Amino acid sequence: MNCPGILFLAWSFVTLFALGSRAEVRVLATLPALHSWAANVAGDDAVVESLLPADVGPHDFQFKPSDLRKLAAADVVLMNGLGVDHWLDRAVSRAGNKPSRRVVTVTQGLGRELIRDLTRLSVDGKSGKARHDHDHGDHDHDHGDEANPHVWLDPMLAGHCVSNIVEALCLADPAHAAGYRLRGERYRQELAALDAEIRASLQGLKDRKVVTFHDAFPYFCRRYDLELVGVIEEVPNVDPSPKYLARLSRLIRDRKVRVLFSEPQFHPRLLRRLADDLGIGVAELDVLETGKASPAFYAEGIRRNLRSLETALR
Ligand SMILES: [Zn+2]
Repeated sequence: MNCPGILFLAWSFVTLFALGSRAEVRVLATLPALHSWAANVAGDDAVVESLLPADVGPHDFQFKPSDLRKLAAADVVLMNGLGVDHWLDRAVSRAGNKPSRRVVTVTQGLGRELIRDLTRLSVDGKSGKARHDHDHGDHDHDHGDEANPHVWLDPMLAGHCVSNIVEALCLADPAHAAGYRLRGERYRQELAALDAEIRASLQGLKDRKVVTFHDAFPYFCRRYDLELVGVIEEVPNVDPSPKYLARLSRLIRDRKVRVLFSEPQFHPRLLRRLADDLGIGVAELDVLETGKASPAFYAEGIRRNLRSLETALR
């Protein structure tokens, strides 16, 4: 073999070796919070991608053919479940068969922790069933029993989801299992510390009444003993009726709620007008449904919410 041939052979080995040692497992997450958790577990051992663009939330997302490419390349797909990312179900079957691909619902196993009874959120006292984001166009099964999907806003339930992510990555990539477990455990400790921080910081609040834009905070409020008096948008992406708003306004006055919480994703005109009519304030809580995914995204977002609650309810 001539000299260039040997060099080429050597180069090929080096390239193969480099590829072999690089992260090979591809993880695709539907929501930015799931991305953030998975990135903490994955470290350098897996590539984590986000399905949602930074400025589109799960309630508005429409699956495009170009998203199928991401999906087709994924070894592990992480979804929240409980209806909020139901558009994934059909897409997975369209992405073609990849026998090794695992689709994991990170809220799996939460069971009794799930909030189904939203009666206390419903200002007109209608049935307590969750009425969340249901485009039934491509479904023929009943979602009537589905729980509220916003589990990710409770850091302790997030810890449960992180455990599911650890298990999924260990199964998909046993060679790096020790690393996934170690980082997963560390991140769970970080979440527990976050929980303790929130608990300590909200403990002294006298005013614990919260009205949010959509029904995203029942888990957070239950965890930290805040009273979710009502929500402005009863069904995501559906304008509340004047009748509903009148009832809600009455409730807000009766309960002496002092502040309405808007969302950064939402144009706060309706909320601002309502607050002005009632003569109360507006503050912001992020539902963490949009935003640039990163390892720090989740904890930073929760801390921003904590600062906002401290200031608004002081
Ligand atoms: Zn939502």
